[in-house]
Amino acid sequence: MSDHPTHFETLAIRTQTPVSAEREHSVPLYLTSSFRFDDAEHARALFTEEMAGNVYSRYANPNTDEFVRKLCLLEGGDDGIATASGMSAVFTAIAARVSAGDHVLASRALFGSTHQLFTRILPKWGVSSDYADAADPSSWERLVRPNTKLIFIETPSNPGLELIDLRWLAAFAAARGIPLVVDNCFATPYLQRPLSLGANVIIHSATKYIDGQGRALGGAIIGDASYIADCRFFARHTGPAMSAFNAWLLSKSLETLAVRMDRHCANALSLAQHFEGHLAVESVRYPFLPSHPQYALARAQMSQGGGIVALVLAGGLDAGRRFLDAVQMVSHSANLGDTRTIVTHPASTTHSKLSADERAAVGISDGLIRVSVGLEHIADIIADLEQALDTAAR
Ligand SMILES: *Cc1c(COP(=O)(O)O)cnc(C)c1O
Repeated sequence: MSDHPTHFETLAIRTQTPVSAEREHSVPLYLTSSFRFDDAEHARALFTEEMAGNVYSRYANPNTDEFVRKLCLLEGGDDGIATASGMSAVFTAIAARVSAGDHVLASRALFGSTHQLFTRILPKWGVSSDYADAADPSSWERLVRPNTKLIFIETPSNPGLELIDLRWLAAFAAARGIPLVVDNCFATPYLQRPLSLGANVIIHSATKYIDGQGRALGGAIIGDASYIADCRFFARHTGPAMSAFNAWLLSKSLETLAVRMDRHCANALSLAQHFEGHLAVESVRYPFLPSHPQYALARAQMSQGGGIVALVLAGGLDAGRRFLDAVQMVSHSANLGDTRTIVTHPASTTHSKLSADERAAVGISDGLIRVSVGLEHIADIIADLEQALDTAAR
């Protein structure tokens, strides 16, 4: 091996905090709220940040540092911070950079809580936002304003699996001096590296594929040094820190991200191909199916199609509900990115507060079932969904 490994799998496994006097092989868990100072001068220098080092676990901890360093290498980012959840990462990345009177431009298809943040919470502090139509370049042109402080997007979107051309939007944002922030939760750095296409900041819900086993909440912000410096200041004094335990767990999970994503993607592609053309299924959406309207873009900016498949049931809302009641092995739950296959019906749950027209605008039809394809044997996953479709069609 060379002195400087550069392959994804190797970085994910060999990036570790320095070995302690105990000569441990696997990184230990640092369950300590604070760290001792050598003397008064040491404490002073740490607090003024003339010297780098641990002070207090709300600021930094060896486990969160390791997790973040690894994720920076995998995403190709200068710097980053870890947060307690994906939503605390989203909130910190926005709140650290906007003031009353500022504007945020976002893509229309967004995670539900991110949508609530833009429409219900930020306006309380005088921050406005607009939603652009991801696929229509003229809508970005029309909605950007002189006071737009950041552009926030998801690609692929949850759950409609709409894509945004990262290279195009990064050039659009850079030409106006506006940072582009990308929620890279669905793709993970293994499938898509937005920073290498010109984005400035990446958000993660580490709760999803990074944990990958449905155990712990976590989030991260990775990107340009100056942007992260603002996020670090904001987080240090407002307190959305990731726990050391979760950082320890999530860092170990990163070691297996590549092998897990390969299998998630292979299973998802097989499932999408199997159900395309099925009588009870009106349409199947998956970025790496040639029938996806943005198939060429998916091939250009993602290395594989990801682990989420959208099945649109022919029978609409009622068929969706009957289908959920008929699954046996597959779980009906709100998470995604787990080893276990999970189905959700956005029209009757996460997006039930939207009108049918509003749902259609974000790519969610009434019969849409989001399948987070797990790591069980693909034949067992397909068999369970087949029998549930049969039952729902009766
Ligand atoms: C789940 C999710 C989030 C929020 O993450 P939490 O860890 O649940 O707070 C943000 N964005 C996307 C795309 C998600 O799927």
